[in-house]
Amino acid sequence: MSTFASVFEKYNWDEVQNLIYNTTSKEVESALAKTKKNLNDFLVLISPAAQQYLEQMAQMSHQLTKKRFGKTIQMYAPMYLSNECQNICTYCGFSLDNKIKRKTLTDKEIELEVAELKKAGFDHVLLVTGEANYTVNINYFLKAVEQIKKDFANISVEVQPISQEEYEQLHDAGVHTVLVYQETYHREVYKQYHPKGKKSNYDFRLETPDRIGKAGIHKIGLGVLLGLEDWRTDSFFNALHLDYLQKTYWRSKYSVSFPRLRPAEGIIEPNFIMEDRDLLQLICAYRLWNEDLEISISTRENEKFRDNIIPIGVTSMSAGSKTNPGGYAVDVESLEQFETSDERSAFEIAKIITQKGYEPIWKDWDRSYML
Ligand code: SF4
Repeated sequence: MSTFASVFEKYNWDEVQNLIYNTTSKEVESALAKTKKNLNDFLVLISPAAQQYLEQMAQMSHQLTKKRFGKTIQMYAPMYLSNECQNICTYCGFSLDNKIKRKTLTDKEIELEVAELKKAGFDHVLLVTGEANYTVNINYFLKAVEQIKKDFANISVEVQPISQEEYEQLHDAGVHTVLVYQETYHREVYKQYHPKGKKSNYDFRLETPDRIGKAGIHKIGLGVLLGLEDWRTDSFFNALHLDYLQKTYWRSKYSVSFPRLRPAEGIIEPNFIMEDRDLLQLICAYRLWNEDLEISISTRENEKFRDNIIPIGVTSMSAGSKTNPGGYAVDVESLEQFETSDERSAFEIAKIITQKGYEPIWKDWDRSYML
């Protein structure tokens, strides 16, 4: 059965990169003038040549987002269930070669974390783990989802790639969204950042969204880890991937996230720096290309950027996030996967959203609609 790999192999990294960096102002103007933009227009809009049109792109992005999503921002919080991991990823605090205390939450500990998130007002939770297939596997996920589904209207997961059958089980259990990031689409560079463990299998990861789509998951979230490779070229491939998925698994909704490489215990420095201005351009380019795409911003970003991006194109934001298992109530001092930048509480973020004339949405999905 065909997968994204058959589309991907038709492209060459260097050729795409050349196209992006050789884009002219005239091409940007012509892309901006189009009512319906295609992937080629996206490529043009993420080019260095498009930077001088940023103001115009931001205004267009604001209008399109308002038209499609209204003046709303969905609120969610990540809940780290485990920092056990059998992979070596050179940019991550949970990497196997990092000598940290490992922890996987028990039922009781999950209950305590849930209580803390509910106190903060959350109705949408994102469950996150490393990749420890013997201990933190589908059985553990199903049990956790079963335990917490009475507490949350919306459950998303960001865990190791699993089989289509296992994604089907998650779907049946009530999981609404699955996120999986390719980290980088550059095959050789991917190998350097993922020298050991199951994650070093580039192709298995590349085909994961196909398995999620085939399993009928409601929403699929993609992204690249910005900082590993040239963000422009990587983002083109991420958009190519989204484009393929939307056409193939058209019943699912799609979201994109923009994790920028952040400091963590024992990790490398970013290879490529992405400035705030670049991230703004990328968000606008996604919106101008794809009106239906949900766009998510995490607490990796700084307060000023997050405040300013609210009216420009994002549709969901995390708040008050902890990136360590038990970080909300059980073991607040345990080692984080990476440092967050915006440490304001969910309440404070909701207040800022309201001050900007937007409505913070704690829940947009009722379980009864999923039947
Ligand atoms: S990025 Fe994920 S798979 Fe890699 S070390 Fe960190 S937790 Fe493990």
